[in-house]
Amino acid sequence: MASIQNPELRRAIAERLRYYNELGIYDFYRREGAAQTASVKLVPEVSEPAPDLSARDEMAAKKSAVVSKPRDESIFEVLNPKPEQGVTDPVAALKLIREDLGDCTRCKLHKQGRKQIVFGVGNPRAELMFVGEGPGADEDAQGEPFVGRAGQLLNNMIKAMGIRREDVYIANVVKCRPPGNRTPERDECDTCSPFLMRQIAVIKPKVIVALGAVAAKNLLAINAPMSELRGRFYDFMPSGARSKDPSWQGSKLAVTYHPAFLLRDPRQKGEAWKDLQMVMKYLGLTPPTKQEG
Ligand code: SF4
Repeated sequence: MASIQNPELRRAIAERLRYYNELGIYDFYRREGAAQTASVKLVPEVSEPAPDLSARDEMAAKKSAVVSKPRDESIFEVLNPKPEQGVTDPVAALKLIREDLGDCTRCKLHKQGRKQIVFGVGNPRAELMFVGEGPGADEDAQGEPFVGRAGQLLNNMIKAMGIRREDVYIANVVKCRPPGNRTPERDECDTCSPFLMRQIAVIKPKVIVALGAVAAKNLLAINAPMSELRGRFYDFMPSGARSKDPSWQGSKLAVTYHPAFLLRDPRQKGEAWKDLQMVMKYLGLTPPTKQEG
């Protein structure tokens, strides 16, 4: 069988198969000739050309690329409606997603020493959302993302932007701690990230900041070095979200260094600050004065 190259389609199919498995259905038959038609109809390719990579700095706030933006509602969403669908209160909707996640055993991270699931924290109506790669030891112990040393640095970065941690929403691509803080594996990210997409679709942030390459590559489905990913905005729309809320046109997504990386290489803090300044400009934020800070 030909391999499926489109990561969005692969994710959607994996999610659909898992749904069938949960219903006790394990055998599937492929209708000849159907697969190709479906891939074209269900998950259109990137609909606009990527912008000039040299357009950085101030222009980056105005220019953008379109990434994995579905034109139509996916048939998977129609066949498999989510519990939060139609719930307008984001607090209630996030609660429904958390309940749907349950005591999750969908990927192998559930049996590799996690103490608890780290769902996400913050303002359910946040304009700004930070997404990291996965919980570490402190986060696993406390059940909250970014609470260790890296979390302290993230708090300082947020404060430097003139806002508070409670104003933003913070989550990770995977919600269980990978053993030994290893990088989450592809199948783990693919299995867990649909829940993150649903959180994003509920919160509808104006801007998402992907912290580090793992978060960026998973959100954008782009395999590129940080040097290419940073310094610009992307248009981001979680799969299936548009048709549910025509008033939301999606988020801007920016990429910066993971705070844990900045702790190891503080010389890059200036670069991260440039990324955050781009975000601040877009959101109309000003850094606090000395007295305020
Ligand atoms: Fe479930 Fe995500 Fe934890 Fe895997 S990482 S077990 S998908 S909550």
